[in-house]
Amino acid sequence: MALRPLQVPGPGRGSFWGPGPQERRTRPRVRIQQHLAEPLPSGADLVLVTDLDGTLLEGTVPTRRRVYGWLASQRHRVLQVFSTGRDLRSVTRLLAQEAALGLHPPHLVIGDVGCTVACGASLTPLPLALDPIEALWRGRAEKVLPLLARLPGLSPQPLSADRRLAYGIDPHRLDIRRLAAIEAHGVDCLVSGDKYLDVLPPGVNKGSTLLGLLEWLELEPALVVTAGDSLNDLAMFETGLQSVMVGNAEPGLVRALPGLARTYRASAHGCDGILEGLRHFGFGHLLDGLL
Ligand SMILES: [Mg+2]
Repeated sequence: MALRPLQVPGPGRGSFWGPGPQERRTRPRVRIQQHLAEPLPSGADLVLVTDLDGTLLEGTVPTRRRVYGWLASQRHRVLQVFSTGRDLRSVTRLLAQEAALGLHPPHLVIGDVGCTVACGASLTPLPLALDPIEALWRGRAEKVLPLLARLPGLSPQPLSADRRLAYGIDPHRLDIRRLAAIEAHGVDCLVSGDKYLDVLPPGVNKGSTLLGLLEWLELEPALVVTAGDSLNDLAMFETGLQSVMVGNAEPGLVRALPGLARTYRASAHGCDGILEGLRHFGFGHLLDGLL
């Protein structure tokens, strides 16, 4: 169940993310752009990759309104990626609900803990990103579902099954040592927030998917800041990209901090913590428009 050293799939790194022969001539950036309802900012000053629950969604209503308004006003120079454990149905509901507070769809969504990548505006999945994850997941669920069904402490039905299996857990009843037997079938198990178990295709997580996306989009790593609060964000922090661990991070994530070279521990919670981290990493000048 422990996170393994990050496998970093990316375009040009072998067949895993590589394009098919007929598509090889078109750059991935162009191919991704063709699937987006809204163009990505050209020459972005910042690529902000934020978790949702506990991070961008955490804060008082006035604070969230303020931060969401700032994000909306910066779309031309801040490329916005939501990176979440939610599936696309849940993201759709959330965006509808948060629109009242001024939250706009991001440019891109990484959902299902890294197992889904979609256009932020249309929430249409991007085949370039999904196909290799599908290939890694094929046949895995059938193998592990019967084993998971016998594990005490898991909710009886998966909450989501899009290229992964997501369960609610009872941390007092789930014996996490038993997850090793599940991982023996070629999947990764990730417990986060003492609330969720994600069973993932091998090597796929928020970090690996983000790195693949950055490479495809030809984005400069120095422009990227990630932010999160729970153990499913650890893989983003382990990429070595500039990262913000918000003040309300779960204890297991805080324990990992000494091993995370580029991760800043904010004292502020949720979206205030994101702002604190942006200032820390030298992006404070982009916050001028913050009301
Ligand atoms: Mg979170």
